[in-house]
Amino acid sequence: MRLDRAFVAHLAETDVALHGRLTTARHEPGAIEHRSESDLLVDPAPHLEDFIGDLFSITDEVRALQARHHELAPLFSVKRLFVQRRAVKGLKEVDAGGLDGPGLARELDRLMGVTPHEEVTAPAWERRYAEQVANWLTDEAANDEPLATAQRYAAWATLSEEGRRKHRRGVLFKVPHRLDMQHLVPVETLVRDGVTMLRRPEQEWRRREGFGLTDRGTDLTGALDQANYCIWCHNQGKDSCATGLREKDGAFKKTVFGVTLAGCPLEEKISEMNLVKARGNAIGALAIITVDNPLCAATGHRICNDCMKACIYQRQDPVDIPQIETRTLKDVLALPWGFRDLFIVDPVEPTQHQAALAEAGDRPQGARRRPRSRRFYLGTSSAERRAFRRRDRRAQNRAATP
Ligand code: SF4
Repeated sequence: MRLDRAFVAHLAETDVALHGRLTTARHEPGAIEHRSESDLLVDPAPHLEDFIGDLFSITDEVRALQARHHELAPLFSVKRLFVQRRAVKGLKEVDAGGLDGPGLARELDRLMGVTPHEEVTAPAWERRYAEQVANWLTDEAANDEPLATAQRYAAWATLSEEGRRKHRRGVLFKVPHRLDMQHLVPVETLVRDGVTMLRRPEQEWRRREGFGLTDRGTDLTGALDQANYCIWCHNQGKDSCATGLREKDGAFKKTVFGVTLAGCPLEEKISEMNLVKARGNAIGALAIITVDNPLCAATGHRICNDCMKACIYQRQDPVDIPQIETRTLKDVLALPWGFRDLFIVDPVEPTQHQAALAEAGDRPQGARRRPRSRRFYLGTSSAERRAFRRRDRRAQNRAATP
């Protein structure tokens, strides 16, 4: 309560209009629209980061983390506006394979000022390319030749076999693929001693040593690539990753394998989290996660993907939400006092985690949690939230009693 009061006072000093919206919503939680509720989760994120930075005297570290997000921004805007909308549009793989990728790369190195023997990794080269192309795009008429070279290179890197191999560790030249539901896992065929076998392509193998994790999760670039791929459907009230994909009659859709597309069992505010992360506010994004998912340290890319299955992208690669969630948590934990940040933005006390789990696990497959009052999200005290949960459980028990 004291922390909340301090944050609200901070908001009153820094953004009077937003403070007014928040206090009105708290006084009249029943009157707030779905979209306004989302805005009230998204808009305070920069203020929350200032507040937390000030509280722990880590403002410089929080600013540095924001800056790391912003430095990567040209990668995603150039990917969307230049690579996807221009370079690869209407081009076939076979035509892209005929381009002289290495020759175009040498020409781009010259244009970007890369010295001949400079060692540049593929991701670092992509960042340089994106910054340079963003720069050239500010005056297209004066830069038509460099842009044409960059466009041909992007087509080669994205569509040709050789180009894809060269940029397999980057994100700039990776575009979403159409889903083939019968072949979701890429495999290659191997015949040994007359026996035909399937196996993962060798470059994707991971060696398992003891009980060590073999999947380290994505880095910040990979997470932001996915957060920017998301189209933030909460703006249209269609964030099926959180609320499920529905048929016209209101029932949940199913995959071709009969799996119910009910979305996140916790109804985590995924779209809002992705938007806030893409804007560079990792603490704000974590705060949004923990409203519904206090156990995010145990979820993320290691455990669940119900959200991905129900993503609005049903015919092409879905947004890799679990990787965004895990990276967001890791970014905050890497800050000084990061672990304490987690518990400050986590609105549910540790003793409540069991109840939250039981609540999620007890539901039959496909059944939704009863929608909570908006006051649940906007209320300030954990006692109040406990009361809401008790009421939910009592209602569920009554409904289950014949
Ligand atoms: S993750 Fe998918 S369904 Fe969810 S908001 Fe993003 S694009 Fe939409």
